[in-house]
Amino acid sequence: MNTRANRTTPLWKGNFMKTRTEITFEMDRLIVVNRSRKAEWCSSCSRPVQMLSLDDAALCAHVNSLTIFRWAIAGELHSSETAEGLLLICPNSPKLTEGERK
Ligand SMILES: [Zn+2]
Repeated sequence: MNTRANRTTPLWKGNFMKTRTEITFEMDRLIVVNRSRKAEWCSSCSRPVQMLSLDDAALCAHVNSLTIFRWAIAGELHSSETAEGLLLICPNSPKLTEGERK
């Protein structure tokens, strides 16, 4: 946070001088999203795979995120869960690459 433009203005009122100070605060927020993900073990492929997020898998399959979630619940995708509880999707899931073969 930076403090900038401190400005003091003298104000005369009768025989008294008051001062009014304006202080402007400037705040910056930096959010870093680390999209590079190390390979995670896919139990269906039996090897480490660069897993996709739910949304990235949706973009890959040209469907919405809810469809990916439903496919994962139905066991139609290779999926795993991170320690934080995030769903990861294996890009080698046949369901994801179905559209490419048509
Ligand atoms: Zn897999």
